Amino acid sequence: MTKTYDMVVIGGGIHGAGVAQAGAAAGYKVLLLEKTGLAHATSSRSSKLIHGGLRYLESWQLDLVRESLKEREILLRIAPNLVQLKPFYIPVYRETTRRPWKIRAGLSLYSLLGNFSVNSRFHKLSKSEWALLDGLRMQGLRAVYRYWDGQTDDIKLTNAVMGSALSLGATLKCPASFISASYSNNQFEIHYQDAGGDKQCSARSLINAAGPWANTILSQIKPDTDYLNIDLVQGTHIILDQTPGDGIFYLESPKDQRAIFVMPWQGKTLVGTTETHYQGDPDNIQPLENEISYLLDTVGKYFPMYQRKIIGSFAGLRVLPVGEGPAFHRPRETTLHTDTKLPGLVTIYGGKLTGYRATAQKAVTLARTVLPAQKIRADTATLSLSSD
Ligand SMILES: Cc1cc2nc3c(=O)[nH]c(=O)nc-3n(C[C@H](O)[C@H](O)[C@H](O)COP(=O)(O)OP(=O)(O)OC[C@H]3O[C@@H](n4cnc5c(N)ncnc54)[C@H](O)[C@@H]3O)c2cc1C
Repeated sequence: MTKTYDMVVIGGGIHGAGVAQAGAAAGYKVLLLEKTGLAHATSSRSSKLIHGGLRYLESWQLDLVRESLKEREILLRIAPNLVQLKPFYIPVYRETTRRPWKIRAGLSLYSLLGNFSVNSRFHKLSKSEWALLDGLRMQGLRAVYRYWDGQTDDIKLTNAVMGSALSLGATLKCPASFISASYSNNQFEIHYQDAGGDKQCSARSLINAAGPWANTILSQIKPDTDYLNIDLVQGTHIILDQTPGDGIFYLESPKDQRAIFVMPWQGKTLVGTTETHYQGDPDNIQPLENEISYLLDTVGKYFPMYQRKIIGSFAGLRVLPVGEGPAFHRPRETTLHTDTKLPGLVTIYGGKLTGYRATAQKAVTLARTVLPAQKIRADTATLSLSSD
């Protein structure tokens, strides 16, 4: 007999896990299908920051920054073992383009959007404190600003959110690939494949949280549905065999003035990221030689003493709205896409690790329009996340 769920979620990245948790917390019967492994794709290849996104102020994405700062505070509260506040340093050199007044103005706005909370404080380091910035080039250094943001382990965070979803009654099938769905009589008939072969289930709501595969999923649904035109933009990180300090450095690439992070990661130094248009199969993404040299050149410019020995690298795909010009200035807000011809179908495009909980709540609110009211089981803003 075909199993029936209220909600089937496709994709076990941070968004799919978040929707499974929010759906189960709202009292619904939820199934999540993940084809490879939890956090196997983008959600293990991020910069691992739980942040408001200071750099988004340059493109005036104020709502995104405000919401992300709010979510950062929630995650610091409910997941203290998974999200830690770290000092971020912005050095200003004779030759860098972002001048001290601009950085002060940006940090003041950041603090305002963070409601002037204690975690939104910032200050300019005195020259005597520069010695703390282990290895940073002193020649040409004019000023250094310190502010605070969060760092996490994206894989552990995704696992913890899925763990919470399971404890609220959600079901996980992994590995299990979504194959197709058809909509009729107010519900989706869903075909998927797991180790046991071809399977079928039905649901009133279908949530497409397949990240870079979102439009592939939509092409497998009948009747045909609308989709958004998207660009996939690759971001690469490298891991250097270099013992880091405690802080995270926010640096300006000498090549194109983009912001690059140099951060401690599992006792080594993580550097990222890049923005390279990608047109291939999302399963085949790899760091490129020119991206690696771009990152090494940036590190070498600011940390001339650092070893250039790379012990690891990884690349992930951003899902951005199609647009002209550099990806750096494109909107990073999440888009939740629905189609009146297929009520109950919600597609999540783009987004941030940081905002997964808010995005999941919005997706469940959209799904609710086709679901019966249920007794709420929990509030994800107060539910602790465990790192075990
Ligand atoms: C380089 C880079 C750096 C970033 N840094 C940060 C950061 O520091 N902080 C931050 O807040 N955000 C950051 N982000 C954004 C954040 O990582 C992403 O928004 C988030 O991970 C996207 O998660 P997702 O669940 O939508 O997609 P994904 O994690 O890609 O998950 C999609 C899942 O769907 C599965 N899937 C696909 N097809 C099927 C199918 N047919 N059946 C079943 N499953 C399927 C895939 O296997 C995959 O696991 C970064 C993004 C990139 C690319």
